[in-house]
Amino acid sequence: MAAILFAGLAPGAVADDQPTVYSGATLFDGTGRPPIENAYVVVGDGRILAVGDADMVPSPDGAAHVDISGKWLIPGLIDAHVHLFQSGGLYTRPDVVDLRHVLPYEQEMAAIRVTLDATLARTFAAGITGVVDFGGPDWLYALRERAEHNAVSPRIALAGQLIATWSPRQLAIDPAPIKLVATPSEAREAIRRQAERKPDLIKIWFVRARGDQDFETAQAWVSAAIDEAHKLGLRAAVHATEHETAVAALAAGADVLVHSVDDQMVTDAFLLAMHERNAIYIPTLGVYDGYWRVLRQYLRLTENERRLGDPRVIESLDDLSTLPESDVPSWLTIGRPPPPVNPIMLNNLVRVHDANLVIAAGSDAGNIGTLHGAGFHRELAYMADAGMAPADILVTATMGGAKVMGRADEIGSIEPGKRADFVVLDADPLADIRNASRVSLVVKDGTARDPDEVLAGLALQE
Ligand SMILES: [Zn+2]
Repeated sequence: MAAILFAGLAPGAVADDQPTVYSGATLFDGTGRPPIENAYVVVGDGRILAVGDADMVPSPDGAAHVDISGKWLIPGLIDAHVHLFQSGGLYTRPDVVDLRHVLPYEQEMAAIRVTLDATLARTFAAGITGVVDFGGPDWLYALRERAEHNAVSPRIALAGQLIATWSPRQLAIDPAPIKLVATPSEAREAIRRQAERKPDLIKIWFVRARGDQDFETAQAWVSAAIDEAHKLGLRAAVHATEHETAVAALAAGADVLVHSVDDQMVTDAFLLAMHERNAIYIPTLGVYDGYWRVLRQYLRLTENERRLGDPRVIESLDDLSTLPESDVPSWLTIGRPPPPVNPIMLNNLVRVHDANLVIAAGSDAGNIGTLHGAGFHRELAYMADAGMAPADILVTATMGGAKVMGRADEIGSIEPGKRADFVVLDADPLADIRNASRVSLVVKDGTARDPDEVLAGLALQE
């Protein structure tokens, strides 16, 4: 339908001078306010100019009208946890399943780099207008610049290299996704060097019993890294999946936790520390399930994943079934259903939500079995399984992500003055969060695209 609506507008053209009025849809503006039925949204110069009830639609001179009656309009989705240096395919994490004898890691990385723009377009076609890359090589900085003004790409916020005391040897590649540090002073030095490249935040890997460090030693360098980041005006995001490391990270000043606490129910002390720091919790519920579904060859891909996913990546997900037995690590138990998502993670999400803390939805896309773009919709479904209401999930998937990006004053909700980044849906996401994947139009900076046309354009290039 977008082809008809936008007849006369050249593909990719920015309707700059002439305002456009979108009217008739049910508007969920992302602020937490109740939806407005039969709403209008006026867009001009890439911004939201006005929002209101369609009975009183203003008609700016020369405005184009787009009738989206019967549809739903929501802010552009933001996946607050991705890794663009990983494809989501079978060969992308040789430290987890080492198949470098089948496909060398250098070859996997080369394929990822030549398809980056296509990967971003697939993400965009999923209704995602912003992503946060939480750790990867320095070439991501140039990609961030390019993506900002690309009409079929989400905006990118990034953390740059992961700061860690441990790096899997199988991931050794140049340029490196991980920056190794051993001491507090090395951590400070690494943060200072990273700050020169202007990351949006810093990402720290706080993993117990790795890099042969005891807890106190690890705590010392993590604290130094966060302190140095704050001195330089940068927020610090921490990978800390145990309660003990998460609490220690918060005590050291962490601004974002990029994973659920998964070893015990979070305590009141944890919730209080989150509250005092106004820290953001990214539950990242589905990433382990993605690994299990591939490693046990129990994929059950959704139609959405097959439609949006990179064909090369999707093809690789079946490879464990077709490789000669001698090529497949013997610890894999092919064909067994994956274990259910850890109920502690699900219950902790509810606890964090009930405590009114800030939550952002993030998929960890790029990890094996978690596809860029489509994988985010699977994550939203897990959040619903945990017991969150669709309206609350949508806020985490829009404003929550904008907060992680550090751009909440600019994107994340449909309000006058903000950038015109939004999605038109064919079905009600408040009735079922899975309907957020039924994307009819994706709008960035006021330029509308039909996801089917974006995908068709990619197919032509292949
Ligand atoms: Zn991650």
